[in-house]
Amino acid sequence: MGIEIAGRKHRRSDEVAGVQLRRSEARLHALLADADVVVAILDGDGHVTYASPGTERLLGRPVASLLGSVPLELVHPGDRERVMTAARASDEEPDASARVEIRLQHHDQSWRTVELTVMNRLTDPAIVGFVLSVRDVTEQRGLEATLFEVRGRFHATFDHSPTGAALTTLDGRVLRGNRALAQMLGMDEKALEGVSLMALAHHEDRHTAVSALRDAADGYGIGDRVEQRWVHADGRPLAVMVSSSLVRGHDSTPLYVVTHVEDTNDHQERGRLLAHQAAHDPLTGLPNRSMFLDELQVALSKPESRERVAVLFIDLDRFKVVNDSLGHPAGDRLLMTIADRLRAATRPNDMVARFEGDEFTVLCVGVADESAARAVAARLVAAIAKPVVITEGEVFVTASVGIAIANGEMETAETLLRNADAAMHRAKDEGRDRMECFASDAHDEAANHFRTANDLRRALERDELRMHYQPVVRLDTGHVTGFEALMRWEHPERGLVGPVDFIGEAEETGLIVPMGTWALETACRQLAWWHTQGADVTVSVNLAARQLAEPDLVDDFAQVLRATGIRPDTVWLELTESALMRDAERTIAALRALRTLGVHLAIDDFGTGYSSMSYLKRFPVDSLKIDRAFVDGLGRDPEDTAICTAVVTLAHALEMRVVGEGIETPEQLDALRNLGCEYGQGYLFGRPQDASMWGTRPDLHGWAPPAPA
Ligand code: C2E
Ligand code: MG
Ligand code: MG
Repeated sequence: MGIEIAGRKHRRSDEVAGVQLRRSEARLHALLADADVVVAILDGDGHVTYASPGTERLLGRPVASLLGSVPLELVHPGDRERVMTAARASDEEPDASARVEIRLQHHDQSWRTVELTVMNRLTDPAIVGFVLSVRDVTEQRGLEATLFEVRGRFHATFDHSPTGAALTTLDGRVLRGNRALAQMLGMDEKALEGVSLMALAHHEDRHTAVSALRDAADGYGIGDRVEQRWVHADGRPLAVMVSSSLVRGHDSTPLYVVTHVEDTNDHQERGRLLAHQAAHDPLTGLPNRSMFLDELQVALSKPESRERVAVLFIDLDRFKVVNDSLGHPAGDRLLMTIADRLRAATRPNDMVARFEGDEFTVLCVGVADESAARAVAARLVAAIAKPVVITEGEVFVTASVGIAIANGEMETAETLLRNADAAMHRAKDEGRDRMECFASDAHDEAANHFRTANDLRRALERDELRMHYQPVVRLDTGHVTGFEALMRWEHPERGLVGPVDFIGEAEETGLIVPMGTWALETACRQLAWWHTQGADVTVSVNLAARQLAEPDLVDDFAQVLRATGIRPDTVWLELTESALMRDAERTIAALRALRTLGVHLAIDDFGTGYSSMSYLKRFPVDSLKIDRAFVDGLGRDPEDTAICTAVVTLAHALEMRVVGEGIETPEQLDALRNLGCEYGQGYLFGRPQDASMWGTRPDLHGWAPPAPA
């Protein structure tokens, strides 16, 4: 195979020299045929005078096609400047060379990355130009890029993993530990290097750690999570979950172990949180009933403390009114504020708990005697009584407190609590906003209270409920225009019991629903009878909030009206102001439904709740009943007088009639009459009595008022 070097500048006539040269060229060509490196020679102007056989492999172009060409054209435009710079650099001194990495275009248009070395041979008489040596590094660069990427991925998953991780030798020496691991152990990442993982385990768990690592190095138990204790730099043990995996080389020889270390103290923390939630009231954050009982049991079980344990049972007095009329969010805010105040007003060792609803309990240990307990209670009562500011304005609540002190006998947490509860109920009965200390004679009363719910259930079954009727009088004429039906319970042992003593319980237990149905039926039947006797009277029946929420109320009532055949407009239904405000929107819908039956509606005990004026206007109500608390002070107390005046004015503005409740004196009657109040009820006219007492012609038994002045 012949070699022709183009652009030869010097012709040699010397035959021998020529033969020698050809020989050495042939040798060079043969040597370069299989070499990785491609060699090309350019003349001083940059034209190719020689290209080694590898060129064809490198660029997919035949050597012949390159001869005489300017290879700079094959260089990526972005790299050309660098090639020129290299050529110039190699130019600076004879035999100097410069190396650059550039892209050359393959015949198939792809770019090959090559390492180009330019050697200046301008002074070499055999060449007089440049020798280029070109090495294809495309694959290598590709591998490097992949490696880089893999390293980045490793970096991301290992170094920045939120779980602790260590890359170790097969015998557990740390080559690299990540930040999470360093943090978990309270060490520096650098300080981890070279440390044996086994040394990080708690000495009692070291054996487990060693065998887990050995297994991993042998390729067993990969991914298994083993619970261990490790040790923090500050000496405290750490609960961790360890799992290992094995890294093998390309020939699958084990190289490294990667160990993941999870901090399960976090889980334990979460476990603690769950336990906390189970023992605390979510609204106020106070311990709940069960935690309180536990704590009380603990206090009672210790001989040194059991005789100095006091339990305070606190019940807010007007909470239901706030909740019903201002809504639950307002009620919640009130409870939270009171919880904070109670906490602030007790000593750190005392426990304040939210027992239920508006009931709080306080456990005081180390109370010397009753007077000490009363002092604590007084402090709490004072804290509660301060006004509470909520969005709707200022609210005042008072509290009734019952106190029970462990008396050295073997009483249980439950009895102590029950005693405090009984004392609290006594405080309520005595007029609220006060405290009572449990005395053993209060036992009976407590028992009474606890028996009521069961007895009530039987009262219905045994037909122990009675209805009494109180006349409603037109104040200007003194005529009896109707009666209010008021429920009584004829208790087999306790005699006649008033509704104040059982209606609340009935509402709480839901028994009010069947009891209310009974009341409606009984009153309507009585009215039907009066009507047959020619008495032109109405009957007013009290309805509990709970009944208003009953979906069957309207149907049941319609059924009663049909069965008794009375005119619906002779029936008045009375709802207390707070019951109406409980869920005002739903109330409006329920009242409208009732009104479709043709009955009249009245708001009872007006002035004791927190009515919203905008709702008042929307309730389809025909009458307001002024609470007797305001009638009581009429003419004496300027505030009560002002309230009565306002209620009458308001009712008339809303086109409602007004009924004054609890009129006991002629002075109150006069005052109400002067205010323009149309109707009234009260002992002055007649107490609630059995229907038989009012005879067949109730209007004839009516009270004749003194002639208007
Ligand atoms: P209320 O509807 O406001 O009934 C008026 C209360 O005032 C009655 O008490 C009545 O006996 C009393 N009263 C009437 N005139 C006078 C007076 O001149 N002086 C004084 N000091 N009191 C007077 P009672 O019968 O104890 O009923 C109390 C509350 O129990 C009623 O208040 C009503 O809210 C509720 N209630 C009574 N019967 C029923 C019923 O059948 N169903 C429901 N849901 N509640 C009822
Ligand atoms: Mg009433
Ligand atoms: Mg009333």
